[in-house]
Amino acid sequence: MTVPRHDAVPTGPSRRSVLAAAGLTAAGVAFQGSLGAASAAAAAAPAIFYSPHQDDEAIGMAGSILEHKAAGRPVYLVLVSKGENGGIAQHLNETPCFLGDKCSAPGHRHDLGWQETWPTPEVVSARTSEFNLSAKAIGVDKVINFKLSDNAYGTDSEYNTFVQAIMGKVRTLAQQYPGASHKFTAGWLDTTDPTKPTNATHKACSDAAYWLMKNGELKDVRFNHIYTYEAFSRDQRNRGADYVLNIPSSHMAKKRAAILAYNTWDPNRNLYTTGYHSVPTMLEEAYNDPREFVYALPSNYKPGRGN
Ligand SMILES: [Zn+2]
Ligand SMILES: [Zn+2]
Repeated sequence: MTVPRHDAVPTGPSRRSVLAAAGLTAAGVAFQGSLGAASAAAAAAPAIFYSPHQDDEAIGMAGSILEHKAAGRPVYLVLVSKGENGGIAQHLNETPCFLGDKCSAPGHRHDLGWQETWPTPEVVSARTSEFNLSAKAIGVDKVINFKLSDNAYGTDSEYNTFVQAIMGKVRTLAQQYPGASHKFTAGWLDTTDPTKPTNATHKACSDAAYWLMKNGELKDVRFNHIYTYEAFSRDQRNRGADYVLNIPSSHMAKKRAAILAYNTWDPNRNLYTTGYHSVPTMLEEAYNDPREFVYALPSNYKPGRGN
């Protein structure tokens, strides 16, 4: 199945053709749910979700965000990196589009002339417009943008500096919101090929959480596996997960709206389907799979960019 196109001009109610949700309501395995400790103090504290890039929150966190919101928790969504990505600019500078008929640009043409070299300003700007639209679709209570340059792919030293920068910002939020729970990506799992390095940005976010937990600065911490939608077939996606969230259909509708923010072509709103030109398969698979996969930090966790 493909993600329906989300054009600027409405083309009728079938445009979204939302698939019927599977209606799965079975409880997840014992893990205190993914909601964590249910003390009175924690109940009023926010659940803070850290999306490494624009799109990760829609792909693998939206259901969890809505789960926490439904439980009465304020939900905050953090964009960790600016999402500099020259590959997206290359795709959107090319005609014809590599996506063919799946591309939402009029005539599948888009010679945008965007800067392909660091720091890819148009890519960052457009991706962030999609992120803000996604956050709105999910209905988060607050959006926080760390605006960190994505240096996870630089030298080892740059990687470590990036981890420290994330730690500094997360620490500030932890101090500002005592009792908050903190939700990161399962960076140690975020790869589509086990023989290649993980997504370094996602791993950096996990590493930041690891060090802060080790220091006792973060306590209630969970990790969502983002790349599972692309790396594994449907029946394999839940393997190893501490908790599988079966997303209720009303929440899934919002998650799908968030995913569609990444496949919306509307230049008047600075929307250029950058997400769909970056990770089309993952967006499609997440759109069609009403589950999210939540992990605790493994006891044998190894910090560092390597696999
Ligand atoms: Zn990402
Ligand atoms: Zn295209």
